[in-house]
Amino acid sequence: MNRRSVLASAAIVLFSASSAWAQGYPERPITMIVPFAAGGPTDTVARLIAEPMTKMLGQQVIVENVGGAGGTLGAGRVAKADPDGYTLLLHHIGQATSASLYRKLPYKPGEAFEAIGLVTDVPMTIVARSDLEPADVGALIEWIKTNKDQVTLANAGIGSASHLCGMLLMSALDVPMTTVPYKGTGPAMTDLLGGQVDLMCDQTTNTSSQIKSGKVKAYAVTTKEKVASLPDLPTLDASGVPGFEVAVWHGLYAPKGTPKEVVDKLAAALQEALKDPKVVERFADLGTEPVAQDRATPAALDQHLQAELARWQPIIEAAGVYAD
Ligand code: ASP
Repeated sequence: MNRRSVLASAAIVLFSASSAWAQGYPERPITMIVPFAAGGPTDTVARLIAEPMTKMLGQQVIVENVGGAGGTLGAGRVAKADPDGYTLLLHHIGQATSASLYRKLPYKPGEAFEAIGLVTDVPMTIVARSDLEPADVGALIEWIKTNKDQVTLANAGIGSASHLCGMLLMSALDVPMTTVPYKGTGPAMTDLLGGQVDLMCDQTTNTSSQIKSGKVKAYAVTTKEKVASLPDLPTLDASGVPGFEVAVWHGLYAPKGTPKEVVDKLAAALQEALKDPKVVERFADLGTEPVAQDRATPAALDQHLQAELARWQPIIEAAGVYAD
């Protein structure tokens, strides 16, 4: 056998071994890292899909919260994990914005992961402590303009969706507010409920039940369309902040180099999870819905992430806000 055929045979043996290994996947529990604190909206989405994915894969999908640095600590952990399908990342729009907000990230959000699929697009809401005086969005805008940096605005750190929303609001109103960072909007919500901070912009997956029970005051939604489950809330776009639009898309990833067979198995499990009637019903209660099946795919998330990286870079550069 010449050198070339020896190498070809070795490659075939290696390929068959890895393909056999991938066929047996998963053989042990899978960790799904949420890069924000427990009890927040990304955590809620992760826990809702982890249950049906566990059934589909025949192995436990365990959610682990690694909050901090606007989601980049948890994402960085997954970027460096073994690409064996046992460590996944459930992230959001911050995967795209952090690439521009952090000039010294130890991983490249657009290159360090294998995309598995999009999960859901979630509207955000502008919510406040329940005793905030302004009665509607117009009055709230006047109140913010009067009180400026006396106003405290909670977020989940630079790179989070709540940070992005707040930054866009401050820039649209041309008013600086004082931002208060948390490891996720779960703990930020606790402080908003306690009246320690004034305002927050957060996903409906965290704010819906608090709005419906009157524990927070809600002013508007951040999408161009109103949200069916919160019919009383106007859009910011139609209430004095024209053009305002942020929605939080969530995606599921594995570290770069995870075998295609494994990624495909995970994508199939994600697609099934998103069809689960309990997931659909719970998402609807929380003001959202699963993405269409053809978006819960590696190609769709890959394309979306690349488009979002390109979309946010000039906006963030123009705002001139950096984490470092
Ligand atoms: N909603 C948060 C954000 O602002 C993150 C979270 O706790 O899920 O990005």
